[in-house]
Amino acid sequence: MRKYLIAGNWKMNTTAEEAMEISSKIKAAFPYDYNKIAILLCPPFTSIHSVSGIIQGTSIALGGQNCYYEPKGAFTGEISINMLGHLGCSHIIVGHSERRKYFHENDDIINKKAIAVLSGNLKPIICIGETLEERQEGKTFDILQTQLEQCLKNISTDNSEKITIAYEPVWAIGTGLAATPAQIAEAHHFIRQKLIEIFPVHGQQILIQYGGSVDSSNCKSILGIENVGGALVGGASLKPDVFIDIIKSAEFYVGV
Ligand code: PEP
Repeated sequence: MRKYLIAGNWKMNTTAEEAMEISSKIKAAFPYDYNKIAILLCPPFTSIHSVSGIIQGTSIALGGQNCYYEPKGAFTGEISINMLGHLGCSHIIVGHSERRKYFHENDDIINKKAIAVLSGNLKPIICIGETLEERQEGKTFDILQTQLEQCLKNISTDNSEKITIAYEPVWAIGTGLAATPAQIAEAHHFIRQKLIEIFPVHGQQILIQYGGSVDSSNCKSILGIENVGGALVGGASLKPDVFIDIIKSAEFYVGV
């Protein structure tokens, strides 16, 4: 049976009140015992507590959009993994391309974060993906290989079960221009082969999400592609009806 994780990355959007409104609508669409598709909401830090109150008792999970890898101390403005865990988060997104672009995070920092998230008993969603320039120069697979090798360095076989990879071509994020099914299939196949090389025991099972302009018009075809284990959804996850549609479209493939 195929497994999917559909995650909503709300980025720097929503006050606590707005976040409660969105999460209430999402919750209303899924019965308390819903377990067909794993659903994850990643609100901004300031809304996590409020969303947690709304989804309590459901199977909807909570995640952080970022974290720092040190456990505590004089790191003004940063947030630790333990703090997110105590707020009820099960996952943390690391290495989103917006973190790489605007906050100069590199593979080394992302690797430290991924290891720290695992040490804190949370699950990292590790984002990788090429820029438009890199794709046009024919470097897509070199970039994906380097990002995978560097970001997954020193992660143990046991912990490899807990990671998710999000393939997010940078040129597809927030542009309304999703990658084509052929581009997604090719990239996910490549990532799967690398994961099997790096983690011979669990590489075949690691979820690989696609992210980049997923919406209600393209979700069904994207989620049906081999090696696609869910979606990391940005803009569309702020629209409850669309996010619900995306989750429900995955149900088709788990045979319900
Ligand atoms: C993202 O932020 O990870 C993302 C994929 O954004 P969008 O869905 O808006 O392209």
